[in-house]
Amino acid sequence: MSGRVDGIVLRITDPPNCARCEGPGLLLARFPDSWKNARSEDVRGLREAALCPACDRGGAAADELLALFAVDDQVGLSNAELLGELVAEWVEYLRHRKVDAALLDEEHGRWERGNL
Ligand SMILES: [Zn+2]
Repeated sequence: MSGRVDGIVLRITDPPNCARCEGPGLLLARFPDSWKNARSEDVRGLREAALCPACDRGGAAADELLALFAVDDQVGLSNAELLGELVAEWVEYLRHRKVDAALLDEEHGRWERGNL
């Protein structure tokens, strides 16, 4: 099964393994995003993320998605709407996490300079 929500393309059938731990992924989301390249230019493109039951545990949206897969291993048309909402939240979280990482780096730099 695959679907499209807000520009997000989902793949649930045979999702790839997690890029971080190489364990089996639960779904693959492909979504438009923008980021800065090494020369600080905005780059627009598609990101891909596999939902991993090990690595993604702990994020609010990811936990809800993992719970959905845990309760109902036949994720499909009957709960496609809920799945779409949760995936949209998770993708928002992924987009923001990148920003949070930059903030953390900045805080870490301030801490190292003794300003925090
Ligand atoms: Zn993983």
